[in-house]
Amino acid sequence: MSQPRTAVIVGAGQAGGRTAAQLRKQGWQDRILLLGEETDPPYERPPLSKDVLTKGADPLIGRLYEPGWYEANGVELRLACQVTALDLAERRLALADGGRENWDVLVLATGCRARRLDCPGAELPGIMTLRTAADARIVTTRLQAGTEVVLVGGGFIGLELAASAVARGCKVTLLEARPRLLERALPEQIADFLAARHQREGVTIHRGVGVTSFEGQGRLQGLRLSDGRRLAADLAIVGVGAQPNVELAQAAGLACDDGIRVDSHCHAGGAVYAVGDCSRFDDAWLGRSLRLESWENAERAPEAAVKAIMSRPESYGGLPWFWSDQYDINLQLLGLKQPVEQELLRGDPESGSFLHFGLVGGSVVTAALVNAGRDRRPLKRIIEGRLAVDPRALADPDTPLKQLVQG
Ligand SMILES: Cc1cc2nc3c(=O)[nH]c(=O)nc-3n(C[C@H](O)[C@H](O)[C@H](O)COP(=O)(O)OP(=O)(O)OC[C@H]3O[C@@H](n4cnc5c(N)ncnc54)[C@H](O)[C@@H]3O)c2cc1C
Repeated sequence: MSQPRTAVIVGAGQAGGRTAAQLRKQGWQDRILLLGEETDPPYERPPLSKDVLTKGADPLIGRLYEPGWYEANGVELRLACQVTALDLAERRLALADGGRENWDVLVLATGCRARRLDCPGAELPGIMTLRTAADARIVTTRLQAGTEVVLVGGGFIGLELAASAVARGCKVTLLEARPRLLERALPEQIADFLAARHQREGVTIHRGVGVTSFEGQGRLQGLRLSDGRRLAADLAIVGVGAQPNVELAQAAGLACDDGIRVDSHCHAGGAVYAVGDCSRFDDAWLGRSLRLESWENAERAPEAAVKAIMSRPESYGGLPWFWSDQYDINLQLLGLKQPVEQELLRGDPESGSFLHFGLVGGSVVTAALVNAGRDRRPLKRIIEGRLAVDPRALADPDTPLKQLVQG
C-alpha cells in the first residue's frame, strides 16, 4: 500500500479554504493541513467594508464553512499558526511555534496585507487599516456618530469605508493623492459619478494631496497634508492598496514579481502551487500575466490549481469581474481598465442606473455597470466572445443586450 500523502495549504483565507474544499471535491483522499496566521477560520472579506460596518453584521458573516465542516471533511485547520520558512528541497516548512511539517504538495494562499504609510506619527493610536475581521471589529467600535474620520486613499476600500462611516453618522473626509478617484480602475465618468454621490452624502474630498505626517499627543488628533493644510481627526483609516505576501516564497527561492509567479495552472514549479491575491498567473484568456485582488479570483483559482494537482490540468483565466457597494450603488466591473478607442454610455447617470463601455476595434473590452447587475451575463458573453457589436444598439437602452449576443 502506498504511503498517505500530505497537501499543505499556507494561508487560511478565502483561497486557502477553497483549495481545501476543492482537494476533497476532486478526490484527494489523503491528509490536508490548512495553516493560517489569523485567529478566525476562513472567511470572505468583502462584507468587512460593507455590511459589517453599515449594518453591524458579524465580521464572520462571510465564513466559508461551519465549524464542523473541517472535521467532517478531514481538513486539519490550524489557526494562529504562522509559517516562517519553506525548504523546497526537503519539502518541509517551519512554523513560528517551532513546529515543522512535511508536504507532498504545497499550495501558497498567503494573500495580501494592507499597505501602511511610512511618515512621522504613523504609529499613533487611532491610525488603522482594514484587511481582517479583527480590524473590522475595532473599526466598528471606533466609527461612532460625530467621530472625525479621515480616509487616506480614494480606492474601493476607502470609498466603501466613506459610505459606511457616513451611515454611522461620522464626519468624513477622504484624501486622494491622484487628481481623480480610482484613476487606475475606473473610467472618468464613473469615478466622477461616485465622487459626486459621496459629496452629496456629506463627504469632503481632497484630491491631489497626500499625508506628510500624523499628529497628536498620545493619540491621533490631526493630519498634515502635502499642501501644508492641517485636518483634525479622531480616526484615520489608511486604504492605499495592498501588497502581496510573497516574502516566504521569495526567501525559499520561488520566482516572484509583484506576486508569486505561476503558470496558467497556478503551478509555481515542483510540487508548489499558488492561488489568490498572492499569485501572479499566466491568464490563458487575456494572454498575459496578471495578479488579481478579487473575490472571484480567490474563488476560482483553487479549482484550477487542484485540477493540476490531480493531473487533470485546465488553463485558468477569463474576464476579470469585480464589484463594490457604496450607499445604494452597486458597481460591477468587467475587464481591466485599458486604453480604449471609443467610450459609450447606455442609460442616464441621473437615473442612477447606467452602463459605461470601452471599445477597441468595434468590440467591447471593458464594462462598468451601475445598478445594472442584470446585464452582467449578456455583457460577459459579448466581451468574452469578442463579439463585434453595433455601437448604436449598445448605447440604446431599448435594445436588449441579449439581442446583441444573439446577433
Ligand atoms: C475590506 C475588503 C473588502 C473587499 N471587497 C471586495 C469586493 O467587494 N469585491 C471583490 O471582488 N473583492 C473584494 N476584496 C478582495 C478580496 O477579499 C480578496 O481578493 C480575497 O480575500 C483574496 O483572498 P486570498 O485568500 O487570496 O487572500 P487573503 O484573504 O488575504 O488570505 C490570505 C491569508 O493567508 C494568511 N497568511 C499570510 N501569510 C501567512 C503565513 N506565513 N503563515 C500562515 N498564514 C499566512 C493571512 O493571514 C490571510 O489570512 C475585498 C478585500 C477587503 C480587505
